[in-house]
Amino acid sequence: MINIVLFGKPGAGKGTQAEFLKEKYNLTHLSTGDIFRFNIKNDTDLGKLAKTYMDKGDLVPDEVTIQMLQSEVDKNPQSAGFLFDGFPRTLAQADALDQFLASKGQSITATVALEADDNILVARLLERGKTSGRPDDQDEEKIRNRYDEYNQKTAQLMDYYKAQGKFHAVDGIGTIAEVTERLTAVFDTF
Ligand code: AMP
Repeated sequence: MINIVLFGKPGAGKGTQAEFLKEKYNLTHLSTGDIFRFNIKNDTDLGKLAKTYMDKGDLVPDEVTIQMLQSEVDKNPQSAGFLFDGFPRTLAQADALDQFLASKGQSITATVALEADDNILVARLLERGKTSGRPDDQDEEKIRNRYDEYNQKTAQLMDYYKAQGKFHAVDGIGTIAEVTERLTAVFDTF
């Protein structure tokens, strides 16, 4: 069983690449952003709560996010492995994930970060916002706030996984196919 965390700032291409990687490596793809958006669409209590944070570009509180992620993992007991996309985003989430996996006799195999320059990403997100319908993609201030959240809370996770020898970085600039090729070269070593 392999469990991979895909890191990257908003717009770095995590979702696009995860679609390919989950098929190639037979992984269950869990995107916390997608799960929150599904809940918003279905007007659940979780969706209503998450929306108040997401619309501003703030992170949803750890307790809520961790519980949701754990229940999604538990819904897939037959899975050959997980591709975590957008989770963990804080040290508390990373700790909770380690403990949760350990309770199942599992662990994180590796983390892979898709790296890209902020200015390129902001332009990409504003472009995506024209068609995605996501309020958090349509306003440069909200987008910048998402980067601030990333820099303040998520960036430190790289060191957390580096210290465990589980961190890999991949250049996220290029065509989708080029980036896929770089990711595949790294995933093939796991
Ligand atoms: P994403 O689709 O990954 O860009 O996530 C969209 C939004 O969902 C984020 O800006 C947060 O508001 C929320 N979100 C997604 N994943 C997490 C997480 N692991 N922790 C807290 N908030 C999250």
